[in-house]
Amino acid sequence: MDCFVFNDVERLKRILNNVPAGIEVYNNMGSLIDINAKGLEIFGVEDDSIVLGINILDNPNLPNIVLSNISTLLSLPEEDKRDFANENFKDSFSFEYSFDRVFSKKYYKTLYNKENKYISSKVECYFNDNGVFENLIMIFLDETDRYQEQLELKKFKLMFDNISSFGKVGIMEHNVSDDSFVANDQWFDNFGVSKCTEISLDNIYKNLSKADRLWIKSNFKSVPFERISLNTLKEKQFEVIVEGKSHWVKCVWLSFKNEYEDFVILGSSIDVTELVEATLRAKESDKLKTKFLQNITHEIHTPLNAIVGFSQLLVDATNKDEREEYNRIIIENNQTLVKLINNILDYSKVEAGITGVNQECFDLCALADDLFSVFKLHNEKRLVCDFKTNKENIIIVSDKSKIRDILTNLLNNAFKFTINGNVSLELEDIGQEVRVSIKDTGIGIGEDHKKKIFDRFYKTDDFIQGTGLGLSISQKFVKLLGGELMINSEFGKGSEFYFILPKRIENNNQQYEGEV
Ligand code: ADP
Repeated sequence: MDCFVFNDVERLKRILNNVPAGIEVYNNMGSLIDINAKGLEIFGVEDDSIVLGINILDNPNLPNIVLSNISTLLSLPEEDKRDFANENFKDSFSFEYSFDRVFSKKYYKTLYNKENKYISSKVECYFNDNGVFENLIMIFLDETDRYQEQLELKKFKLMFDNISSFGKVGIMEHNVSDDSFVANDQWFDNFGVSKCTEISLDNIYKNLSKADRLWIKSNFKSVPFERISLNTLKEKQFEVIVEGKSHWVKCVWLSFKNEYEDFVILGSSIDVTELVEATLRAKESDKLKTKFLQNITHEIHTPLNAIVGFSQLLVDATNKDEREEYNRIIIENNQTLVKLINNILDYSKVEAGITGVNQECFDLCALADDLFSVFKLHNEKRLVCDFKTNKENIIIVSDKSKIRDILTNLLNNAFKFTINGNVSLELEDIGQEVRVSIKDTGIGIGEDHKKKIFDRFYKTDDFIQGTGLGLSISQKFVKLLGGELMINSEFGKGSEFYFILPKRIENNNQQYEGEV
């Protein structure tokens, strides 16, 4: 019988020494009385004699709550221990095990020094047949590798989420066999739906056109399995319309058979709106450039022909009135030509990024008043002209020549596009800034045109004289001076162009990088 018990204990010890968990047995005072081979390996202990006798309450790594529960358990009257143990050691727990702390607290001698392990653990209490508390058993699992893998996975997920939202890349997996669907948040974002939407093809792709929805269904939903060819790459670009606004998503799909013989479709989608819009803009810009070249030929020919023709007539004319009239026509066309060439030069400089800003201290009221007076002099349509300012002098440090060009452009347009009514120029000193506004009661600009009115070469009507560069140059100049040219306009009612400039520009010789 004795022999049987001995064998039993031996067998148990052998088993304990071979389980892949560290096991420590403490007595009812908290002293270590046994540790298995795995325990020695986890804690880097060469021989159990090194650790036998250490007290669990001195453990520098166990979480405080665990230590405090063990301390309470050991000090409780015998009859209360079982209930306390049942209540407080139910759950397993994980913690970081620092060998540095073991070393500095001289807890035991270990082969490890600076490194940390991640341990998950469970406390068990052993009560003998008489219900007396005898041992505290600690079970340890070394989770360091799993923890590191989880960390790596978390890091990878974080990086992937980052890339995915930065690059607007969505990914999805659709198991056609069991009709399950998983996707990252960006996939839903790309299709303009929220993730909590009940998952169905109709819901996810509800913002696509009917034709595109049908395409998706016929390709991925209603196709019998046999007809899905493996490893087929499908590529398609979709227009997604959310609340009337379009964006573009490009998708690539790959179908394959997974390890359970299920047909699976893997997809990635990327928001290509910026690319599509840039391409459209480039096409539009190309069209405008062609129009501009046709335009400019006409714009140059008209005044040039007038100058050449009337100069010839002037030579032969004898009548004084006739000579004066020809003279006037030649001067007018000269001015048109000069304005045109100046515009093209200004525009080229701005585009090349070589437009500097000069600083000069001057009175904006005086400049505006002088300029407006010139326009009033040539006011053949007898428009009511109004110059308003809330201060008699508004002294600013800015680029006078550019402000003159901006005002000239805007006033030119106001007088050109107003048949009757009035044109006003208003200055408002608003502390560190000044607001400049040019209003007219002219033909006005419709909503569609307003969006593009500051684009180069843009004109609301191709038959209107001009290159369509004035507003684009003015906008760029205003930006160079620290403001933005804005428009209020209603078709048929008139327009207001206005901007707010700092009274002192920050940077001298600032360079403006023109658009390419
Ligand atoms: P340009 O240099 O040929 O005068 P702009 O860039 O100054 O061209 O103006 C572009 C177009 O914007 C004009 O052809 C006209 O259609 C419209 N526009 C500009 N100012 C006004 C205005 N005050 N009222 C109505 N339309 C305007």
